Amino acid sequence: MLSEDAPRYGVLGWPVGHSRSPAMMQAAGLRYQHLPVAPEAFDDTVRALHGAGFRGANVTIPHKQAALALAATCSPAAREIGAANTLSFAADGSIAAENTDAPGLIAALGDRPVRSAFVMGAGGSARAVVWALRRAGADVSIWNRTPARAAGLDARRVSEAVAADVLVNCTSVGLDRSSTRGTPFKDLPLNADGLTKYTTVVDLVYRAGGTALTHEAAKRGVDTIDGLEILVRQGALSYTLWTGLAAPLDLMRAAARYAETPAS
Ligand code: NAP
Repeated sequence: MLSEDAPRYGVLGWPVGHSRSPAMMQAAGLRYQHLPVAPEAFDDTVRALHGAGFRGANVTIPHKQAALALAATCSPAAREIGAANTLSFAADGSIAAENTDAPGLIAALGDRPVRSAFVMGAGGSARAVVWALRRAGADVSIWNRTPARAAGLDARRVSEAVAADVLVNCTSVGLDRSSTRGTPFKDLPLNADGLTKYTTVVDLVYRAGGTALTHEAAKRGVDTIDGLEILVRQGALSYTLWTGLAAPLDLMRAAARYAETPAS
């Protein structure tokens, strides 16, 4: 049981009720909660958190760029990616920004080969993924439904799927139930058999029952990493940043997997 004066933490988002971070971080022993905040209230709310006993917060859609802009200091990773998913509040209330999404992906990949990667999507998560893969030395190709959106990313733009060690889905395809029925790959530049072109398939999307992408890859004997493992790894790095302790990965993983799931 945590005492009333234990340091507080939370996850800022809008909406954020679906986030499994509270279950995962509570399992790790933190006093941690959902923090639903509309974009127009973001700056004022974050500035008030330290006074309310918060030492840190994770940040999710749509606030990752605002979090970086608000912070007094930021890591090179957060600055180069252009987004922060972790804020830390110092004793004087000053705010530091970090991005643990990128090293979280690399931690999840472990010692798998990442000489080449094919990234689908060019939104916020793709920025961190491309940055991480390039830092890991990968030759990165990127496809996006709206090609122009991928222009600023440090990757080769392609109009169809290319073979690689690692495929990373950074689109939101697979998030809702409809896209796991019928023709799940209708919105992507490859079909289920095309997944065998990759040694490892990573899907950032997570949903109850898993996603079509990871199911179809696993059915074909392809190694997979799902969005929950990515969530756990970025959360573990935030935990260590705040506490200075090694994260209890197994507890966090179990809690994230068994947390109440959204009704989508
Ligand atoms: P985002 O910035 O909104 O970007 C969404 C991306 O999905 C864009 O590239 C968009 O393409 C593409 N897209 C959306 N609908 C599509 C469709 N019907 N067909 C093809 N492409 C489509 O979102 P994000 O922050 O990058 O997040 C993407 C997904 O990753 C979300 O599902 C999110 O929940 C998940 N995520 C998971 C973790 C984790 O820890 N596991 C972390 C971050 C994000 P256009 O540019 O053409 O619109």
